[in-house]
Amino acid sequence: MRVVPDPYLPSHGDVRYAVEHYDLALDYRLATNRLDATATLRVRARESTDALRLDLSGLHVDKVKVDGAKPRKYTHKDRVLTVKLAAPLAPDATATVEVTYSGKPGPVPGAHGPAGWEELTDGVLVASQPYGAPSFFPCNDRADDKASYRIAVTTDSDYTVVATGRPTSTSARAGRTTWVFEEPAPTASYLVSVVVGRLTEQSLPGAGGRAAVFRPRGRTLPAESPMLRLPAMMDALEGWFGPYPLATFRAVVVDEALEIPLEAQGMASFGTNHLADAWDNERLVVHELAHQWFGNAVTGALLRDIWLHEGFACYAEWLWSEERGLGTANERAARHHRALPMQKQATPLSDPGMPAMFDDWVYKRGALTLHALRAAVGDDAFFTLCRSWVADHRVASTGGFVDHVARVTGTDRTPLFAAWLHEVALPACPVVGPR
Ligand SMILES: [Zn+2]
Repeated sequence: MRVVPDPYLPSHGDVRYAVEHYDLALDYRLATNRLDATATLRVRARESTDALRLDLSGLHVDKVKVDGAKPRKYTHKDRVLTVKLAAPLAPDATATVEVTYSGKPGPVPGAHGPAGWEELTDGVLVASQPYGAPSFFPCNDRADDKASYRIAVTTDSDYTVVATGRPTSTSARAGRTTWVFEEPAPTASYLVSVVVGRLTEQSLPGAGGRAAVFRPRGRTLPAESPMLRLPAMMDALEGWFGPYPLATFRAVVVDEALEIPLEAQGMASFGTNHLADAWDNERLVVHELAHQWFGNAVTGALLRDIWLHEGFACYAEWLWSEERGLGTANERAARHHRALPMQKQATPLSDPGMPAMFDDWVYKRGALTLHALRAAVGDDAFFTLCRSWVADHRVASTGGFVDHVARVTGTDRTPLFAAWLHEVALPACPVVGPR
């Protein structure tokens, strides 16, 4: 796949190189919101280059080293850290870039509001989609530039840290604790998260260690909380879409209300308002879990491909609704199809534009597109192509999905996709036959 700047975020990322691994050491003081950090990036040049551009917002760069030595020069302005190399990197050559930085982290402003590192009343939450990752580490902030991570967070010992990756160790010294996490799976920078809070881990019966809830200390989960259904949701999603792509899933409930939950790699953050037994909470839990397959394991190369994340996650809600006897996928599809004309849609699903990319119609029309595809190809072919889509792709595009469907089903579905993805007019509501 050709690597190009993202037209929705042209000021982020650098196409000249890829990051293979990030090693982040974050020392954070809650009382003063002070971060002292070192990020060590192993990078590989895609083309010959004498400079590397990294995204880093609102923090001060104290020192930069490339392969252990001073670079020719570096500048940091307008959220861009430009490192001029002492000698050009040849295509495919690797280098280690070490950035020492510090300051008071805060969210990155943008078209969808502030994103990234955010102080809570008592703790921290990082929700970066789509442009918040530079709020706490220097990165090549492109959704298609996926890397492995090691993240060490040191903070006050009476707090719990949950971050992207499998927890591998904790060590305490002088009232401060270092938590280490490792994520070997290719991970997009916007999916890297850190939550710091007074939290308690609650393992879930039937999860086999693969799913857990972190809840605010002293707060119990309601008896019928949708969080308790995570093991059953995971079983259902695996049946439809194939094996869970990571080691574990952690639902992290912070001790305040959140407008929306948000997925990260191997975890998702929720507010205390999402704990109660209600369909609107339950669908959000299954939605964020489904993102581990769609969005996290298979990531749209460009932000305009967002329907490949949100359409699938929304469709997982409808499948789960049917599984639970709360309305069939056909019923959910019909209801949302009736409501869609009330929503302003000026652009096609395949390229909704930056301002509209998180509009509800993108989610619902995306799910309806998948329902139409399922109605056209039948259940066996549909779920087979969903599973191989996840198994065979790490970075994806809408065109790649259309090609994948043709390859797996042996039939070109261009007219169906043209109507649902490239036109604005809403096609008739699809109906799938009995399973
Ligand atoms: Zn979503």
